[in-house]
Amino acid sequence: MLDNQPDNRSSDAWDAQNQIAQLTAMNQFLSQLSASVLEFDVFLKELVTGIVNHVRCDRAILLITNEQEAALEYSFSNYQLPSPDRQAELSALRLSVYQADHDPLLDAWLAGEPVMVQTDLISPSSTGGWLAQFIQSNQFLSVPFIHNVNLIGVVLVDNPVSGVPVTAEHQAALMALAGQAAILLHNAQAHQRIVRKLADSVTEMSILRQIDRELSDTIDLRHVFKMTLDWVLRFTNAQAASIALYNQETDELRFVAEYGYDIPGEQLATLRQEYGPGIALRVARNGHAEIVPDVSMDKDFVPITSSTRSQVAVPVMREDRVVAVITVESKRLNGFSEQNLDFIEKLATRAGVAIDNARLYDEAVREREKLSLILSNTADIVMAVGLDDRLILLNQSALAALHLYLNESYVGLNIFDAVDHTPLLDMYRRAKALGENLVEEVLLPNGRIFHANLQFNPSLGWIVVMHDITPFKEMDKLKSELIATVSHDLKQPLSVMNGYIELLLMQQAVANQGMHSVQMIRRSIQSMRQLIDDLLDLAKIESGIQLKLTPVQINTVITDCIDSLRPAAQNKSMTIIAETNNNLPPVTGDYDRLRQILMNLINNAVKYTPPEGKVMVCAEKRGNMLRVAVQDNGLGISPEDQIHIFDRFYRVRRPETDSIEGTGLGLAIVKSLVEAHRGQISVESTLGRGSTFYLMLPLAEENLQDGPS
Ligand code: ADP
Repeated sequence: MLDNQPDNRSSDAWDAQNQIAQLTAMNQFLSQLSASVLEFDVFLKELVTGIVNHVRCDRAILLITNEQEAALEYSFSNYQLPSPDRQAELSALRLSVYQADHDPLLDAWLAGEPVMVQTDLISPSSTGGWLAQFIQSNQFLSVPFIHNVNLIGVVLVDNPVSGVPVTAEHQAALMALAGQAAILLHNAQAHQRIVRKLADSVTEMSILRQIDRELSDTIDLRHVFKMTLDWVLRFTNAQAASIALYNQETDELRFVAEYGYDIPGEQLATLRQEYGPGIALRVARNGHAEIVPDVSMDKDFVPITSSTRSQVAVPVMREDRVVAVITVESKRLNGFSEQNLDFIEKLATRAGVAIDNARLYDEAVREREKLSLILSNTADIVMAVGLDDRLILLNQSALAALHLYLNESYVGLNIFDAVDHTPLLDMYRRAKALGENLVEEVLLPNGRIFHANLQFNPSLGWIVVMHDITPFKEMDKLKSELIATVSHDLKQPLSVMNGYIELLLMQQAVANQGMHSVQMIRRSIQSMRQLIDDLLDLAKIESGIQLKLTPVQINTVITDCIDSLRPAAQNKSMTIIAETNNNLPPVTGDYDRLRQILMNLINNAVKYTPPEGKVMVCAEKRGNMLRVAVQDNGLGISPEDQIHIFDRFYRVRRPETDSIEGTGLGLAIVKSLVEAHRGQISVESTLGRGSTFYLMLPLAEENLQDGPS
């Protein structure tokens, strides 16, 4: 039986004086408690101790309402049960507040009424009876703490030590402080919530800072995945988590890391294949995080582990694109709070950056490996030297050609310390002093000749690329030697033949009929001599001609050439006109070689123009150059032939040119000579209408300023 009425038997003996003193002390205690800022545990201890002191009982047990669970839970008691096991059970006490069957004790508490429980008056199966047994008490008083009509706690008091009954005086005292104690408890709880929230965010911040540090330290993608999952599980207390990379183009997820599934990797992959990617793909597609409080209600859920009850899936974004999805699974229904989601989202942002960094690094490493593979397999020498003269790169060919140790790394060393090859170092020094790119031939210690190209790159330094041209050099030398020998050996007998022919002609020793044949032999000898002279000349020019450079008035050269060729032109009733300006600046050149160039061009114009044609030679200043044009209104050259006429031995094969003698070497010689003068040659022509050859030569002033080479 429950007795809600205070026992009045001893109230008469209640000393009014004593009562006032007790109330004053109680008030003092409560206002002291409300004024002090205490940790929640300390507050509970103070409150319970205060209750025991002021109510004058042996024991007080404080139960506090857990709102989420709708239950009263043990929170503190001043008295420990003699049996540690029973005390441990008591500490885990939880009492559901709203029970299906109405219980008088709970109903009274919810109504804010105190209840005296006496075991001999109550059924052991009632909540009161059960509680009395649980706290090992025959008689106890319970007073609810109500705040804003909510039951926020209950205090149970009894006398397990003295064994004296709990009386109406106890109840009156407890009731006197219950209202204010409820307010204090409520405030302390609110304070505790704020402190806890603050502590949580400090913890979260420090964890995130640690995550930032660790993630920015790693560029190993697998490590990034592992760390991310590790933290997710640690922070959410979930059981399993996975990361899948998302390919937006193919709309596919590839699971790259899994943790806590208790299933071997291959089996996991097979299961995923069977079931499909599940909620993760949905999240990847729509780009929004999702908490699924009860997976059994979600048609997309994939039951990889049967124990999973709730799930959260968060997209990892990079520049508005979903690049991955983090999925976390919990064994509990409703296992994820908004705070969990918030943390996983923060982690996902960090993981996104780390994934990106790791990817970029991987790409850079792959590119670097590719490049170094190409560089180490190329026969060309490739070196890079920084602005501080330190070697940045040397490929295998460079090490071999410079007689350096193949297995040693020279990167970081000063080029002057590492490389012991004067011509190359000289070239490097000169390029640096001039601040100019250089292209030169260099003989390396391995006895081979390299075409060395030294290029400046402002952000890197100097890049040296050298190509082995030894075979070409050898072939060129062989060719020049061959031409010289063959021509010399041919020239000798030709001179003898020519001498005898001239003798025959002088002596008029040949009869009239034979005269024609002798003339033919003489012409053939002359064209052979021309061919040999041209060959020798070309070989000489191409093996590096030494020009005698002086300022040359081009008008003088033109007049000289026209005078020499006028008889040939007159023979064909042709006119040659020079259109030049007397104030033309001089060019820098070798007079004889410039004459050779123009003789060739004007002679061709006369040769390839039918009788009565016209040849015009003009010269004019064009910027830093002087342009000479040799124009005729002769046979002209087709576009296909124009491409080849400067090649050696190339002659246009057309019926009109068949009878015209030539070696096909004239324009090849012209081109080589023009280039030796740092000039250019080009042609414009229309078949049947005529041709114009343009010759560009550097002006003397400009050229002399740069310094002739
Ligand atoms: P060739 O000794 O045959 O004259 P060149 O090297 O001087 O050799 O010229 C190459 C070819 O270019 C000639 O065979 C000729 O067909 C063509 N050619 C050169 N100059 C002219 C020109 N002014 N008009 C037409 N064709 C020309």
